[in-house]
Amino acid sequence: MDKINVALDGPAGAGKSTVARMVAHKLGYIYVDTGAMYRAVTWKALQSGLDITDESSVRDCVERMHLVLHPGETGQQVIVDGENITTFIRSSEVNQAVSQISQIPSVRQRLVQMQKQMAANKGVVMDGRDIGTSVLPDAEVKVFLTANPRVRAERRYAELEQPEMTLEELEEEIKRRDDIDRNREVSPLREAEDAYHLDSSEMSLQEVVDAVLELCMDRVGGGAE
Ligand code: C5P
Repeated sequence: MDKINVALDGPAGAGKSTVARMVAHKLGYIYVDTGAMYRAVTWKALQSGLDITDESSVRDCVERMHLVLHPGETGQQVIVDGENITTFIRSSEVNQAVSQISQIPSVRQRLVQMQKQMAANKGVVMDGRDIGTSVLPDAEVKVFLTANPRVRAERRYAELEQPEMTLEELEEEIKRRDDIDRNREVSPLREAEDAYHLDSSEMSLQEVVDAVLELCMDRVGGGAE
């Protein structure tokens, strides 16, 4: 059975990571969370005490850092310079700064190059903001997954073990991030023309996963297990 690539884009909190992980598991594919890569660079820049608005120091940082993604039992593990930083990249400091960092062209260039390499042999489910439009424009299945901002905030809130903010603050942060992601100059968040639009506001997780799997089955001819 020929393998395909699946691109899953959409705004923050739409459920992309969970859906992508479940779809990849079902198909026996590799799941790549590209948001984690931008978060890893952000963590490293903050950790190094860099001024994140200073493009040249962030560029040096991204060029020097050694970033490895490992598929793990509990989800993708993120290793930077030998240290497992998977839990650190979800902190509110990283949330606040990540959209700023991901606007920097040299950061995107470096990470997109890695993402293309990871998908070169097919069999990848990749989630992000620009996968269908810029990273994998030839992906066989493209989905743009969205939900209204309140639903997205509620889902993110439910995932937090120790919420550091209220639901309303979280919704504001999600909207702020969407705004920066949609309006940046380099590969902004936008729906690919050939993407399948899926609004999950009124759908269960399983319904979304089934809908994406159906698109994949149609593409590979019904044989993927
Ligand atoms: O997906 P997640 O919410 O973890 O992404 C964190 C941030 O990384 C996004 O808000 C966006 O600024 C950036 N990002 C991006 N391009 C991607 C994936 C994420 O710019 N492909």
